[in-house]
Amino acid sequence: MSPIGPSTSRDTPTDAPPTEHQDPPELRRADSLVLVNTGNGKGKSTAAFGTMIRAVARGWPVTVVQFIKSGKWNVGEEKVARELGVEWFALGEGFTWLSEDLTRDQAVAQEAWRHAASLLESGESRLVLLDEITYPINWGWIDEAEVVRAITERSPKVNVLITGRDAPDSLLELADTATEMRVIKHAYQSGIRAMKGIDY
Ligand code: ATP
Ligand code: MG
Repeated sequence: MSPIGPSTSRDTPTDAPPTEHQDPPELRRADSLVLVNTGNGKGKSTAAFGTMIRAVARGWPVTVVQFIKSGKWNVGEEKVARELGVEWFALGEGFTWLSEDLTRDQAVAQEAWRHAASLLESGESRLVLLDEITYPINWGWIDEAEVVRAITERSPKVNVLITGRDAPDSLLELADTATEMRVIKHAYQSGIRAMKGIDY
C-alpha cells in the first residue's frame, strides 16, 4: 500500500513490510503549503511545533502567532522558539472562560489577526504558524472570509500552518494537507492534570 494511501494500520495486521513504494505519476513542487491540524485529540500544536523545528532547521524565518493561550502557559515553548530565532507573538490573554472582559479578548484576537495578516502579505516569514486560530474564527471574533482571502492571496513562498479544533470547512478546502487528531484516550479523562514537559 502506498504510504500516502488511507491508513489502515490499526485495523489490518500485515505479515510483511511493504515492498513497493507508489508515488502518484507526476509530482510537482509547490511554492508553499497550507496545513491544518484539527480534531479533538491531543497533538495539534505539538505537531505544529515539530514542523516549526523543521522550518528552523532549513534556515527559514518563522513566526508563531498564538491566538488563545497566554504567554505564561506556553512559556516553555516560547522560550525555546525564541532561542532558535523564531518570532513569537503570544497576544492571547489566557482562557476565555476565565476572562471577565470578552470585548478585550476579542480586541486582542483581532490585533493578533492583523499582525498575522501583515505577515502573510509581506512574505518576510517562510512559515507562519497560526496556533489556535480556529477558536476566534468560530466565535466570530475574526472574519472567516477575511482569513480565507488573506491565505489565498498570501505572498507565494509563505507556508501557513493552522491549528485548533473544529476547523471551518473553508479552511479545510483551502488546505493542501489537513489532519484530524482523533481521541482514543486522553489522560485528562481519567482525572490526570496537564503535565509540564508533556502538555506545556
Ligand atoms: P497539544 O498542545 O498537547 O498538542 P492540542 O494542540 O492538540 O494539544 P488543544 O486543544 O490546543 O490541543 O489543547 C491544549 C491542551 O489541552 C494540552 O495541554 C493538551 O494536552 C490538552 N488536550 C488536548 N486534547 C485534549 C483532550 N481530548 N482532552 C483533554 N485535554 C486535551
Ligand atoms: Mg493546541
